[in-house]
Amino acid sequence: MSEKTMNVFEIVQEQIRQGCETLGAEEAVYEILKQPKRFLQVNIPVRMDDGSVKVFDGYRSQHTDVLGPAKGGLRFHPIVDADEVKALSMWMTFKCAVVGLPYGGGKGAVCCNPKEMSPGEIERLARGFIRAVGNFIGPEVDIPAPDVYTNPQIMAWMVDEYSVLQQRNSFGVMTGKPLNIGGSLGRNTATGRGCVYTVREAAERIGLDLNNSTTVLQGFGNVGSFAGQFMQEEGSTLIAVREIDGAAYNPDGLDVNKLMEYRAEHGTVKGFPGSKDLSNDELMNLPCDILIPAALENQLTSRNAGGVKAKIVAEAANGPTTPEADRILHDKGILVIPDILSSAGGVTVSYFEWVQNLQHFYWTEQEVDERLERIIVDAFDSIYSMSKEHKVSMRNAAYLVAIDRVAQAMKARGWLG
Ligand code: NAD
Repeated sequence: MSEKTMNVFEIVQEQIRQGCETLGAEEAVYEILKQPKRFLQVNIPVRMDDGSVKVFDGYRSQHTDVLGPAKGGLRFHPIVDADEVKALSMWMTFKCAVVGLPYGGGKGAVCCNPKEMSPGEIERLARGFIRAVGNFIGPEVDIPAPDVYTNPQIMAWMVDEYSVLQQRNSFGVMTGKPLNIGGSLGRNTATGRGCVYTVREAAERIGLDLNNSTTVLQGFGNVGSFAGQFMQEEGSTLIAVREIDGAAYNPDGLDVNKLMEYRAEHGTVKGFPGSKDLSNDELMNLPCDILIPAALENQLTSRNAGGVKAKIVAEAANGPTTPEADRILHDKGILVIPDILSSAGGVTVSYFEWVQNLQHFYWTEQEVDERLERIIVDAFDSIYSMSKEHKVSMRNAAYLVAIDRVAQAMKARGWLG
């Protein structure tokens, strides 16, 4: 199958198949994991501001509940389909298992373009989605969170609608909520922070001094901007950042805080004083020590992977590297920290939010950050050891750790022979 025609569902099935083979897992493990346990497709009629009724397609996928309730984001996007939602829910299983969270993978989507909808229409759509999936989710069953084009406000409307259906408050049904209705401190910086913890561990293993290192970032949104800020705090010099509409490149270094201010004012990093623009491929191939893709899927491909000069690639985005590019980076001896580890900080702090909701007992930001650090560092350790023991890449090792944890739970529950 070529890089272009392989869809994400087939990619994740292949990753599971390879992992099961390497582990010598019994056939039933692959048969159970190769598709979601439950998948719901709904249609949601919404009264639009002009009085018409528009019907939107929605999906929620629960990959497995062997380790606990399903957990994963909910996106509002004009281009989503069932296969993509299924694949994303499957990746969430392994992301949660890699960091040892008591969850299975979940993911949902509504096919819509929120950029063309009013706040009232988005609210009615959010509430309609919850009415449609209300019996399918719940704090002990499936806990959605924000994802592409959804945010804490949308989570708040959804929690409210779910609480109305249940006839009692149920803050633990969603994470990524506003702080005043059960959100957690440290949630918005968590993915960037978790990514930088993995970079710090990787640098130590390969003897790279972060104080004398350079970093290149693709994406400067929630994940990328905080990853950049924390890399700078670790002593690394950020030399280039690219967003959808252009880049800021300065080989002498960019001040991340000033770049954040510039972006907040201008809506782009392009044109940042003292910097020049670059194409995506130029950015990916810049001489640097650490490359952090923090934008979208399929950004490192067979076209640009051969030119990557970084010693460490930390996948802060979900699925930024195609399987073909992954092989190229591995053959070049580049240490790739896979997305299911490097971007696991967000779901980890979502887990903390859920725990705080269930206990009605809230933590300080310092407590959140310390617990996050411990979980990510331990996960890095076990995956790095697994990669050395089995002489495989960090990605394969992460899948081995994750599939093994899931398979052991299946065994304990009597699902296997
Ligand atoms: P965001 O919408 O805040 O930012 C996305 C960034 O990517 C923007 O800077 C945008 O300009 C850039 N971008 C988009 N298309 C691009 C292109 N073609 N070339 C270069 N840059 C491009 O999103 P985010 O929350 O920061 O998420 C980024 C990635 O991290 C996604 O893959 C997401 O699934 C993943 N992720 C996010 C979280 C989280 O907690 N937010 C958790 C885990 C994984």
